[in-house]
Amino acid sequence: MINQIYKEMLNGKSIIRQQSEFATELGKKIGYENVFDYSLGNPSVPVHEAYTQTMLQLLKTESSSDLHGYSPSLGNTSVRTKVAASLKQRFGLDYETKHIFMTSGAAGAIAHALRCVTQPGDEVITFAPFFPEYREYVGKTGAILKVVPANTEDFQINFEAFEEMMNEKVQAVLINTPNNPSGIAYSEETIQRLAKIMEEKQKEYGHDIFLISDEPYREIVFDGKKSVYPSKYYDNSLSCYSFSKSLSLPGERIGYVAVNPKATDADIIAVMCGQISRGIGHNCPASSVQLAVAEVLDKTSDLSVYEKNMNLIYDELVKLGFTVVRPGGTFYIFPKALEEDANAFCRKARDYNLILVPSDSFGVPGYFRMSYCIDTEKVIRSFEALERFVKEEYGK
Ligand code: PLP
Repeated sequence: MINQIYKEMLNGKSIIRQQSEFATELGKKIGYENVFDYSLGNPSVPVHEAYTQTMLQLLKTESSSDLHGYSPSLGNTSVRTKVAASLKQRFGLDYETKHIFMTSGAAGAIAHALRCVTQPGDEVITFAPFFPEYREYVGKTGAILKVVPANTEDFQINFEAFEEMMNEKVQAVLINTPNNPSGIAYSEETIQRLAKIMEEKQKEYGHDIFLISDEPYREIVFDGKKSVYPSKYYDNSLSCYSFSKSLSLPGERIGYVAVNPKATDADIIAVMCGQISRGIGHNCPASSVQLAVAEVLDKTSDLSVYEKNMNLIYDELVKLGFTVVRPGGTFYIFPKALEEDANAFCRKARDYNLILVPSDSFGVPGYFRMSYCIDTEKVIRSFEALERFVKEEYGK
């Protein structure tokens, strides 16, 4: 008999995918250039030229077995060493090769991190708004995802609700900063306060509670700022990184887990990831991609278009009277819808060729996400449609 759990998932298609598919279909009718598609978080800027050149060089010079052969199960050793050195230099933690495990993007990193520190029946806490895939990432490990309601004031953490929800069954706290969908970057005070509470709870319950930090947007921060690096503030932490957005190569499927050198069992967690891989059939990203990315660890694509788009959209939304918190990074913005039912709001927007994502699956009702990794020219053109939508449907 086929597995009923996965069969039932076929009925619950992601709203992001649904909206994106609608945009594609609409594009076939009216021309995709006329569809203001703010649905998918697919990077719009090209990969860094240095990555392309490195790959070309590797193809010319590396042996076939080094480039296309099996990678060691924890990742190529020289690549892990370079990742550790880069993180050590940037964030001042004593990372060594043994703390790094190479993965297929952030999704692969989180799949391993969760399995390292939880068992079926344990609780994992995350904070709304959150990336909807967390339901599957956590749920399919057998652990239970608990969602702390949003602090809609500024989308930092709702600490009162968090403290109330903490209990002995919680083995991990999963955060994402800068955040998809809010675009908010957690402040240093937020991370410090989170770390303090988690340390107190570890003592109270007499067991480790791990912080799993999902960081695909670490390099996309605005106003000349840098992301706060959560692992600096909490020893029992696993940093889950992806090059998907920083280097614009989500299709390459490359990222890593970095185990905080001060974590409990820090020396064996990456090795355990190798064993988890055997169970879930992950078996490492492509050797060629690992080798190429290792040469451009501290580079990013030109990400400036995201900040430019954010400023334009934020100003426009404020002008139109939306309630919206200004993003500190990513390529998402998360305004309050102009009616309680965000699904109805986004459905009506479609009549104006505006493709927005309603917020319910992010764990906050009544908002919508705009993913602005699109051309600035299109962002500007979309404002006429947005203004008409708001005026005709809501009299604003
Ligand atoms: N976590 C968040 C918050 C994301 O937005 C994404 C992708 O959009 C992922 C994880 C998965 O990243 P990757 O494609 O690198 O696996």
